[in-house]
Amino acid sequence: MPFADIVGQEQIVEVFRRSVRSGKTSHSYIFEGIPGCGRRKTALALIQALFCREIEDDACGVCPSCRKVAGGNHGDVHLVEPLPDKRDISIDQLREIQRELSLRPYEAPRKACILEPAERMSVNAANSLLKTLEEPPGNAIIILLSENADMLLPTIRSRCQLIRFSPLSPENVRLLLEKSGIDHSVALLRATLAEGSMQRAAELDDQGLTARRDALIRYVWALDLGRIKSVFEASEELSGNRDETLASLDMLLSCFRDIVYLSAGFADAVASSIRPDLEHFAARFSPEQALQMLTDIMETRRAVQRNANNKLAMDCLFMKLAGNMA
Ligand SMILES: [Zn+2]
Repeated sequence: MPFADIVGQEQIVEVFRRSVRSGKTSHSYIFEGIPGCGRRKTALALIQALFCREIEDDACGVCPSCRKVAGGNHGDVHLVEPLPDKRDISIDQLREIQRELSLRPYEAPRKACILEPAERMSVNAANSLLKTLEEPPGNAIIILLSENADMLLPTIRSRCQLIRFSPLSPENVRLLLEKSGIDHSVALLRATLAEGSMQRAAELDDQGLTARRDALIRYVWALDLGRIKSVFEASEELSGNRDETLASLDMLLSCFRDIVYLSAGFADAVASSIRPDLEHFAARFSPEQALQMLTDIMETRRAVQRNANNKLAMDCLFMKLAGNMA
């Protein structure tokens, strides 16, 4: 995948385009970021761009070299990861890759190696890599992918250029999901819960998500200050550990954003598959009330993020929502 097709990491891609154009890439990098934010794609794009002779600062994506890198069968690109059933990348694997890198490239101008996840190198393996990182044989390029560069040995970090990848925005996750053929409303829901990771987005299952959203709506619609039990039922059902609570709050945020639009008369801005449900609900409130509820949800989300007691925070939120609905 050429740089031009990478979504959501524009700044990083721009820096790489410049360094490819000027011939000033480093030989060792650490790409730090959560899984599923585009680190591996960017690493492959960089290697493609360095190998491809068609475009000055990117890969063409279609020449034999580009296709081999994308297909994972380029003889000069090596991927090192823990062997099946093994937790760590072993010293033997590192020795093998060092031997490979010391050979002449088969067809590319240089060899390339992606090592993932770099924090799973045993200490011995990491130590054996130090010399290679300092002076890669034959101008090879080595890219370490890591969730947290602080978990790598300082001696490894100091020999590599650190590139920090941000999580993808929900908007970009939605875009990528839709590109892969997923329905708009499902993509929207997944993107809300994906925490910026395409990997997480892929792990979420649609049925579970839809059922969860429907349950959430049922409980919130039923909130009634005159029936305090409805408040505690909702918070019992929709709070959990921190991540579960945040997921519920994200879903609520997504629904109430739409409700604010609907109550203000901007129905066209709402693409949700449950729009009729939301419209029905929105009709009960003024735009000000809807906005107040949205604000309450956002505040609760911030509190939970700052480690507030999940259940208490949700009790309090549903009390406020019920008060606003009265
Ligand atoms: Zn090419």
